[in-house]
Amino acid sequence: MAATETPADFFIEAWTHLPAHRGMGKSLSYRHHQPLQPGQLVHLPVGRQTLLGVVSRCATTLPPNSTLAPHELKPLAEVLSHCPPLGADWMRLIEFTAHYYRRSPGEVAIMALPTLLKEATDANLVKRLQRLHDKKPPATSPTPDPAKRLNPEQQQAMNALVAHAGPSLLHGATGSGKTEVYLQRMHRILEEDEQSQILVMVPEINLTPQLEQLMKGRFAHLGPQAVISLHSGLPTAQRLNNWLMAHLGNARIVLGTRLSIFASLPRLRLIVVDEEHDPSFKQGDGPRHSARDLAVFRGHQLGIPVILASATPSLESWNNSAPAPNAKPNYLRVSMPSRQGDQPMPELVVVDMNRFGRSVWLSPTLEQAMRARLDASEQVLLLLNRRGYAPVLYCPDCQWTSDCAHCSAHQVLHKADHRLHCHHCGAQTRVPTTCPSCGGQQILGLGQGTQQIEEELIERLSSWQKPNGQPVNILRMDADTVRLKGQLTAQLNAFHEGQADVLVGTQMVAKGHDFQRVGLVAALNPDGALFSSDFRAPERLFALLMQAAGRAGRDPKRSATLPAQMWIQTHYPQHHLFTHLRHFDYAAFAEEELSARQSVGLPPFVHQALLRTEARQAGATLSALNHMHSACTDLAARLDMPLTVHQPVPMSMSKLAGVHRAQMLVEAYSRKTLQGFLQVWDAELAPAMRQQKGLLRWAWDVDPVSI
Ligand code: ADP
Ligand code: ZN
Ligand code: ZN
Repeated sequence: MAATETPADFFIEAWTHLPAHRGMGKSLSYRHHQPLQPGQLVHLPVGRQTLLGVVSRCATTLPPNSTLAPHELKPLAEVLSHCPPLGADWMRLIEFTAHYYRRSPGEVAIMALPTLLKEATDANLVKRLQRLHDKKPPATSPTPDPAKRLNPEQQQAMNALVAHAGPSLLHGATGSGKTEVYLQRMHRILEEDEQSQILVMVPEINLTPQLEQLMKGRFAHLGPQAVISLHSGLPTAQRLNNWLMAHLGNARIVLGTRLSIFASLPRLRLIVVDEEHDPSFKQGDGPRHSARDLAVFRGHQLGIPVILASATPSLESWNNSAPAPNAKPNYLRVSMPSRQGDQPMPELVVVDMNRFGRSVWLSPTLEQAMRARLDASEQVLLLLNRRGYAPVLYCPDCQWTSDCAHCSAHQVLHKADHRLHCHHCGAQTRVPTTCPSCGGQQILGLGQGTQQIEEELIERLSSWQKPNGQPVNILRMDADTVRLKGQLTAQLNAFHEGQADVLVGTQMVAKGHDFQRVGLVAALNPDGALFSSDFRAPERLFALLMQAAGRAGRDPKRSATLPAQMWIQTHYPQHHLFTHLRHFDYAAFAEEELSARQSVGLPPFVHQALLRTEARQAGATLSALNHMHSACTDLAARLDMPLTVHQPVPMSMSKLAGVHRAQMLVEAYSRKTLQGFLQVWDAELAPAMRQQKGLLRWAWDVDPVSI
């Protein structure tokens, strides 16, 4: 040992961003002159970088498997000593997530922490904490908005929720008043324990601005800092402040998106997951985890209740739940079938599009019905699946289509800039005047997107007048029109305030907005989802249509002359999905889908994990997976584990932004078997995976939601 070096008093192990696929182990070792608690945030020298880390262990001896001698350990770069250590329950949540989803704990922990912490020094943290501390609450606390008086159905649901300590599935029709029920459940918990904290997760904060206002009003007496939001759309400094408020226990309610499942909440007493069926609770990149499933884990770990709320629960949660008294050991199912004020669900009108030519996208009957609504000063909501102008260009002479050069997807025509756009990688090209393949003169558009429908609607409706003599206004909303910050809210408000009469949009228009004057909602082209290769597509479509239907007739004061209606244009009017939709009978649809899935062995009756690979060279992805396929089959046989290792296949989008992608599916009837297999795989086969040539990345996706 060099004479200048002092011996380390303490050996620190820390988690940091070390992706599991690199195989660098779970933590790195350092030395420090003082003991540190697990959960302490630190900066670590790693190579030439300094990385944010979380202390996972502190001891006076090195771990037995350490490959380094004590004098080879570097000292820590900095300790963020003014930030209290993360709690043991948080550490356990990170470890569980890493273990279950096959990631390193550091990868999960660093993803879970606000990015600004990576740059924060202890000195800036002191200043920041001081500023937060100085924000004194006003001397008099404002009066909160009064709670609504629960109707008997809500009261019954409330009683059931209060009596149940574990997870509950709150299944209520759209407009049944689920929000009111969980707000009152929250209220009780906040009153019972003056320091208690509650986490409320929603799929997409921008789509529920009303919820944040509602909570701030309802819990105004707890002070201006009591309700905070946590989502990736916040400016980084604000996100760090909000995160700190939660971590210090000052924030009582955290309203957030899936990332907030990892918020540090030392006094967490309740978790609510609203719209629990929404696929966006599953993270699609990096450590792919399901925030909803982790909410249930976190609740179980802390022994606190979890409320999963939805009008169309995921089939997983439906299958996991049962009404009392059979709820144990799964979720308690609490149902609220009636809408507030006994408003009926809208009437369902199914139009058989086989009666019209292929090019007809708006049936004459629907057009007439729309006119009637506009004449009655009502608004109309049109839902469609595709954005862009004409989704694809093609040449009838040689069958050329406008494919993206970097993805296995078509580029679509956008009218605004008259260019072709790829919705997957963003690549743009100019519109060819002649066929690039055969020189043909006639290039056609296939199908309609939102822009084209808007244009044709304007043309058709321009001759109409509303009762007040004004022309009909049409607003289009899709990912293109809401790209800029604030546009989404602005457009929703504009429609809400009646600045437009017809709103045309993709699925985002169907989510939780409370439009008061909408009397008619129509799904123009929902058929694609009926025959999709994704077995979850019908479940998603049913949820979307139910939700869209819930947008119609929400105003109890609206004129009763025209009953609220939901229109479906389809070539398959006999499909069972529409039969159940006719009665808005989610339970019947769910049971039928579940029994179909059970008979063919699909989730939730089997458990799945996908090994995904990415490479620049087309062959590399599949050759690595083919190698793994035989290795996994052998391993399963040797362990005598009942699981199926499927043949590797290219992903349905086999090329994205120039990167080739393939996957291999492993399935088991028991979650435990699958987890057991993945663990052995890690020890025995991961090293071979790391040696595969030409791979950019590989990772497991456990419980995938898109295949
Ligand atoms: P959900 O979340 O089930 O779709 P909401 O909670 O948004 O339903 O409730 C629908 C509407 O009914 C809201 O405008 C809400 O304010 C109102 N509401 C809910 N509960 C009551 C109640 N007990 N009395 C009166 N109005 C209520
Ligand atoms: Zn051609
Ligand atoms: Zn592309």
